[in-house]
Amino acid sequence: MPVRPVIGMITAPNPKLLHGRHLINTSYVRAVIAAGGTPLLIPSDGDDGLAAEYLPLLHGLLVPGGEDVTPALYGEDPLRQVTFMNEEKDRMELALIRGAVERGMPVFGICRGIQLLNVCFGGTLYQDLPAQYPGVLGHAQDMAIRGQLTHRVTLEPDSLLEKLLGGEPLSVNSYHHQAVRTPAPGFTVTARAADGVIEGVEDPERNLYAVQWHPEDLVESHPRFRSLFRHLVERAEQYAGR
Ligand code: MN
Repeated sequence: MPVRPVIGMITAPNPKLLHGRHLINTSYVRAVIAAGGTPLLIPSDGDDGLAAEYLPLLHGLLVPGGEDVTPALYGEDPLRQVTFMNEEKDRMELALIRGAVERGMPVFGICRGIQLLNVCFGGTLYQDLPAQYPGVLGHAQDMAIRGQLTHRVTLEPDSLLEKLLGGEPLSVNSYHHQAVRTPAPGFTVTARAADGVIEGVEDPERNLYAVQWHPEDLVESHPRFRSLFRHLVERAEQYAGR
């Protein structure tokens, strides 16, 4: 048995960014290693049946940021603002999420991750906040400022996120044009932006928690966010029976 818990995360083709490669942002890999986990990159390649081969190797699952979730998966056609998705990746990642939750394995979702977790368990999304959410703040900042805190977030008292991040007022980075609309049954909303947009959810029954911002790009400059990754590793150690 490895000493450090193994944290799975998907890697997938993204021809919009780079043709012919499976991609994952380095910041997720580094954040998991810094938190004491061993990242295992799981390729999406069109056969979601392979998820069952990877699940026994894992102690935790990180559902990272990425492209828009295919709207058909929550019963909608895409708005014109939704132009890039990868249904093969969605299906592989959904199979990983379902398998992880069935096993009681801890799951932490980030950005696309909070959205995909919500769709996985029966929730819906705003496909495009500027088009569908009157009074929305600026949630889609330029990627060139990935490490900057740009909007405030209010945490629900006594929630897990409050336990991990509470104390001083919280501001986060923000690179999303979609968000959770109807939370999945069983999900509790535990973080919101000042405009009411959902920024965090938790589901203790399913051993999952998720945020809409990008803590992986903040852990070096703002150490407070390390607790989100450390918590996944601690839960993964419990899952592994250590
Ligand atoms: Mn935001």
